Amino acid sequence: MGQPTNILDTPVEYVKGVGPSRGETFRKELNIHTVSDLLYAFPFRYIDRTRFHLIKDLTSDNDLVQLKGTLLSLEKVKSKSSRQYVKGVFKDASGFLELVWFQGASWIEKTLKTGEEYIVFGRVSDFNGIKSMPHPEMELLSEASVTVSKTFDPVYPGTEKMDAKGLDSRGRRKIVKGLLATLTPTDLPETLPAYVTEKLRICSSFEAMQWIHFPANEQQKELATNRIKFEEFFYVQIRLLLSKAYRRIKYRSVPFEVIGPVFNHFYHHKLPWQLTGAQKKVIREIRADLGKHTQMNRLLQGDVGSGKTIVALLSMLMAIDNGLQACLMAPTEILAQQHFETITGLTADMDIRVAYLSGSVKGKKRTEALEGLLTGDIHIIVGTHALIEENVVFHKLGLAIVDEQHRFGVAQRASLWKKNEDFVPHILVMTATPIPRTLAMTLYGDLEVSIIDELPPGRKEIKTIHKYESARAELIQFMHTEIARGRQIYVVYPLIEESEKLDLKNLQDGYERLLQYFPPPDFQISVVHGRMKAADKDAEMQRFVTGQTQIMVATTVIEVGVNVPNASIMVIENTERFGLSQLHQLRGRVGRGAEQSYCILMTDYKISKEGRERIATMVRTTNGFEIAEADLKLRGPGDIQGTQQSGLLDFKLLNISADTAIMDAARNIALRIIENDSNLEKDIHQSIRTQVAKLRKKHKDWARIS
Ligand code: ADP
Ligand code: MG
Repeated sequence: MGQPTNILDTPVEYVKGVGPSRGETFRKELNIHTVSDLLYAFPFRYIDRTRFHLIKDLTSDNDLVQLKGTLLSLEKVKSKSSRQYVKGVFKDASGFLELVWFQGASWIEKTLKTGEEYIVFGRVSDFNGIKSMPHPEMELLSEASVTVSKTFDPVYPGTEKMDAKGLDSRGRRKIVKGLLATLTPTDLPETLPAYVTEKLRICSSFEAMQWIHFPANEQQKELATNRIKFEEFFYVQIRLLLSKAYRRIKYRSVPFEVIGPVFNHFYHHKLPWQLTGAQKKVIREIRADLGKHTQMNRLLQGDVGSGKTIVALLSMLMAIDNGLQACLMAPTEILAQQHFETITGLTADMDIRVAYLSGSVKGKKRTEALEGLLTGDIHIIVGTHALIEENVVFHKLGLAIVDEQHRFGVAQRASLWKKNEDFVPHILVMTATPIPRTLAMTLYGDLEVSIIDELPPGRKEIKTIHKYESARAELIQFMHTEIARGRQIYVVYPLIEESEKLDLKNLQDGYERLLQYFPPPDFQISVVHGRMKAADKDAEMQRFVTGQTQIMVATTVIEVGVNVPNASIMVIENTERFGLSQLHQLRGRVGRGAEQSYCILMTDYKISKEGRERIATMVRTTNGFEIAEADLKLRGPGDIQGTQQSGLLDFKLLNISADTAIMDAARNIALRIIENDSNLEKDIHQSIRTQVAKLRKKHKDWARIS
């Protein structure tokens, strides 16, 4: 058996105190195979054994704390629910604290002695302003072996089986401490260039590893934590920027050399309104990219209603002026069709041929579309993911635009790249789901980003109101008034898969109730939900779009993209069951015309704290970015739409909603490094090169970046 060259690769069972049986437990329970795995399994909290806390300083925010003082009294008490518990009064030099035990009364009375000095150990909780410590660990001061230790004690996540093998935190501490004592700085070589660690006053890899497990004080804990967080994000950025640099060299696009008659004619004679400043700005950014041989890879972020479609169209016109084709892909048929209609409408009586393609386009129409694409006769094609199918072949695809890009997988998007033999199309992906800045840095760090941060003029801010069931009659009255004024109304019900039947029943009941208040033939109501056939759905939707129905009762299928400017009221039922970004998307369906729009959030009386916060956020702001930030804080990155697909967010310590300063620093430094040394060839970047190679081996998917 060959000796591993690096101690970090040594199987965990060879670590002192582990052995084959515990090694197996480490592997099975925590996926810890090597010394490195063991070291990188960080504690999730610490116990401060370095000192005794004072009762007067305690808050329920404290972690486990250690106190020294006298146990004054013990008594059995009956709570209101006639549950018996034991209450103790404990005193130190600074004050008094209640100790509480809900179990083991007789054992406590037998073992604990009032009037004696104890070391007490536990967590403080706050019940209606009264501080107490439930189930403290108690050790007689006179019998205590060690009263204070030199470092914080790490606490590791574990399992029952680990505990049974003596691998609870206490056992792990011993093993890790022993292991760390045998390591030298050469075993944990520096992974960052010296000029970076010096400039940012970052501790070394070696120190970070020692301190993350056994910090002597808060400062060491922080230094180690920050270093590890920095490194985590720094290498994600290096990875993204390297792949971007690689793409720049490997792929070539056709530069759009001119702005020609098609674009100019449209811009000067067909544009229905003035572009907003933000639209002009992003068009300039896109124009600059399109003029180059290097492939554009740009993300266009703009809130619902900010006017991304026209930006897409203007970009596509630039392609036509340069003898190239363009495509626009949308995630749903309804949305794709709407884009198609918008574009054909706007370019009517111009010499531009626009075609539509989706799974439901069949027969002669399909053949014509495919042929037109192949010959170059069709300039613009709008469609669903049917566009990426292999038999869709272009004459010369210069620009591919993907709307609501998070609805597509990386692979789906990537297949658009392969539509030409000897060059790749420029790529513009668009999203109306605002992404918090730090999340965008992580997920789209290899893309250029354009942001439309301004709505077209004349939009009235949507009024958002939270109402309880008791206001139902008032709501119906309001709906009547607005319908009488010619407005249309959405009523949306949640549809969550696990309770699909129940949800559909809710929708059905709601629909029947509305029928009573808004009876035909004076009123007409559309119903759309996910269980309907696509054709029926479209027909119902169409009735609403054309104004034949005044109310649309729906599940969230209407979430994406639908544009009915005359609809000015969005009623959301069971609002507490929707996520923030979904609520924001739904609200974006109204406020598209000149009328004052309303979003009415109906809820039950019982709402969780988080639900309440979501609703408060919706009422407070219509700014998508603010909502996205709040969403990130409430739910963490793992749940945010579109993030699951990527291993990019597997951070051990970094918290992307809290650690923004660290992320900015890491991003900026990574940017500068790759700008100056895109292949990491310089000597000063040797450590980065080594680390990247190591990470590549560990994360196989690194090789296969979009
Ligand atoms: P989204 O960014 O959500 O895709 P759209 O492109 O659908 O937004 O635009 C929303 C609405 O705003 C459309 O009805 C569109 O015609 C209109 N619009 C877009 N840009 C402007 C503008 N500069 N001035 C006035 N109306 C605009
Ligand atoms: Mg859109």
